[in-house]
Amino acid sequence: MANIDNKLYEKSIKILKDLIAFKTISGENNSSLINYCEDILKNHGASSFKVFDENKKRVNLFATLKAKEPNGVEPIILSGHTDVVPISKGWSTDPFKAEIKGDKLYGRGSCDMKGFLACSLAFAEVFSNSNLSRDIHFSLTFDEETACIGAPLLIKELKKRNITNGICIVGEPTKMKIIDSHKGCYEYTTYFEGLAGHSSKPDEGVNAAEFATRYVNKLISLRKDLENRQLKDSIFDPPYSTLSIGGIFGGIAHNVIADKCHVNWETRPINKQDGLFLNEEIDKYASEQLLPEMKKIYTHSSIKKEIIGEIIGFNRVNDSKACEFVSSITGDNEREVVSFGTEAGLFQEIGISTVVCGPGSIEQAHKIDEFIELSEIKKCLFFLEGVKNKSIIN
Ligand SMILES: [Zn+2]
Repeated sequence: MANIDNKLYEKSIKILKDLIAFKTISGENNSSLINYCEDILKNHGASSFKVFDENKKRVNLFATLKAKEPNGVEPIILSGHTDVVPISKGWSTDPFKAEIKGDKLYGRGSCDMKGFLACSLAFAEVFSNSNLSRDIHFSLTFDEETACIGAPLLIKELKKRNITNGICIVGEPTKMKIIDSHKGCYEYTTYFEGLAGHSSKPDEGVNAAEFATRYVNKLISLRKDLENRQLKDSIFDPPYSTLSIGGIFGGIAHNVIADKCHVNWETRPINKQDGLFLNEEIDKYASEQLLPEMKKIYTHSSIKKEIIGEIIGFNRVNDSKACEFVSSITGDNEREVVSFGTEAGLFQEIGISTVVCGPGSIEQAHKIDEFIELSEIKKCLFFLEGVKNKSIIN
C-alpha cells in the first residue's frame, strides 16, 4: 500500500477519538457531534445545511465542497450515520473514551461507523486544497441503528434540492470490500386493546392476548407464502423474505382477561413487493377477521400497527457506477451481499448510484469492546486519496 501522510493519519485518529467521546446513542441528541463536524467542514470551505427531527433534538448534516471548475462530473457523497448502539455491561475500557491498545483503537462506534466519518473529515482539508472537478458531499445522519429514522428526512431534502445524481459511498464497516446488496428490514409493533374481565367468564371480555396470538399465528403461516415467492437465482441467504416475532407482551394475572397486548415483529423482504404483500395480508386479516370479532363484544376494541422503521433493501445493479468507481481505486472487483441493513437503499431509490464500503469489520460492530484495526484507518485514507485523484482537474 502506498504511504499515507502521517499527519493526515494522526489527524484522523484525533478526530475519531473526539467523535467517540460524543455519546450519540440512537435516540439521543446528536447536535454537539454535528456542530463539531460542521465546524471542521466549514473551516475547509464547505457549505452545509441541516435537517432536524420534529423536536429539533436530532439532526442530519449535509455539507458540500464545491468543484473549482464544474464540468459536469457527477458528485461524490461520503455518507455515514452518527449514532451508535447502546452499551451493555462488560467493557474493559470506557466505551466513550477511545483507547489504543496494540494495533487497535477501542471505543463505541470505532468501527460502526465513526472510523469512516473521522477519515472523511480529516480528508476534507486535502479535498479543499485540491483542484476539484466535482462536488464532494458529506452526509451525516442520525438514528440509523433504530431503523434509519434520520436518513429519510435528509433524502427528502436532497430531492427538493435536486441532489439526485452521483455516486454515494456508505462507509459502514466492510473492511473496505464492496457490498452492493442487502435485504430490507421492516419493524413493526401491533397493539391490541380489548376488554378486561374475570377469567371465569371469558366470553364477557375481549382477550387481547388471545387475539394477538391469532395475529401471530397468521404471520407465521404467511412465512410459507414468502418462501414460495422466492425468486430464481436469489443472491440472498436465505433466498426468500423472512419473518420473525420479536416478542409478545400482555396481560396482568392468570385470572384476569388481558385487555392489552402488543406484538413486536419484523420482516426482511428481498424486494418491495414482498413487504407490500405481507402488510396487505396481515392488515386484511386484522381488519376483516379479528377486529369485527373483538368489536362484537366491545365496540372500543382496537388493533393498531405502528411502523417502527422500514429500511428499504439495497438492490444489486449489474453495471453500477459506484461499484466500478470503488473497484477502480481498490483494484478489488468482488461484490458481496450482507445480512445487515444500511441507508444505501434510500440513496439508490432517488437515483444515486450507491455502494457500501468502509473501514473496520462488522464482526466488531454492536459488541462489547468494539474496536477498529488501525490498519483499516490507513486503508480508508488510501481509498480517499484515490477518490481525490479521480476528482481533480488534470
Ligand atoms: Zn452502522
